Amino acid sequence: MNFYILTLFPEMVEDTFHTSIMKRAAEKELISLTAVNIRDFSENKHLKVDDYPYGGGAGMVMQPGPVYSAYESIKEKAKGARVVYMTPQGKVFNQKMAEEFAKEENLIFLCGHYEGIDERVLEEIVTDEVSIGDYVLTGGELPSLVMMDAIGRLVPGVLNNDVSAEIESFHDNLLEYPQYTRPVTFHDKEVPEVLRSGHHGNVEKWRREQSIIRTLKKRPDLLADANLTKKEKQFLENLKRENNK
Ligand code: SAM
Repeated sequence: MNFYILTLFPEMVEDTFHTSIMKRAAEKELISLTAVNIRDFSENKHLKVDDYPYGGGAGMVMQPGPVYSAYESIKEKAKGARVVYMTPQGKVFNQKMAEEFAKEENLIFLCGHYEGIDERVLEEIVTDEVSIGDYVLTGGELPSLVMMDAIGRLVPGVLNNDVSAEIESFHDNLLEYPQYTRPVTFHDKEVPEVLRSGHHGNVEKWRREQSIIRTLKKRPDLLADANLTKKEKQFLENLKRENNK
């Protein structure tokens, strides 16, 4: 998976990206990051890339020319890549989208700043508009990093254990079950017996049930699209009935 990012702050993205698991994945050449500085394509001797908005109003707007030239500089290398514009106006990012983007070979992220980017270049190059939530940040760098992290960890081989990405929260639209490690007893609380039983089937059953219990408690909105067996649906109905007593 090759990530390309068009940004005014390449060092911010590169430093954060090359940390921990993503750093190791890049060393193993499972993922790569190419950061392109939009300012390098300024059409102005003062290296300005923004100007006042037509029609007036607060703030500045990033000019279309430098953004387009930055995109052109990698277009061939990132052939066929979707161009993801990070914007609070986009579709809100979730695990399903991460899984879908993880199938791509190349992805280009476009980061805005100030009041955003001139609409005309967005119309020309952007294929997807994505938000990381209903709040406004100062730039698209943190949102791109969030996306690259969520997508990168789904690339086969990036996590030590491929299975671990599959059974985490949002798999089957459920939250993950509670996790425990040593010691067996902490502040008088014991690790649930079933997890120490060595009975794989019982452990799996307990974990699925815990996932359903947690999702009902913390994110009941997810349950409408949860992938449940007939038995699990019954389990959920019983839980709801008990909760309503
Ligand atoms: N004026 C824009 C609006 O109201 O839609 C917001 C511009 S924001 C201050 C500057 C840049 O930060 C945006 O162009 C975008 O790239 C990024 N950004 C801010 N909030 C974001 C969010 N929730 N998700 C993704 N990107 C965001």
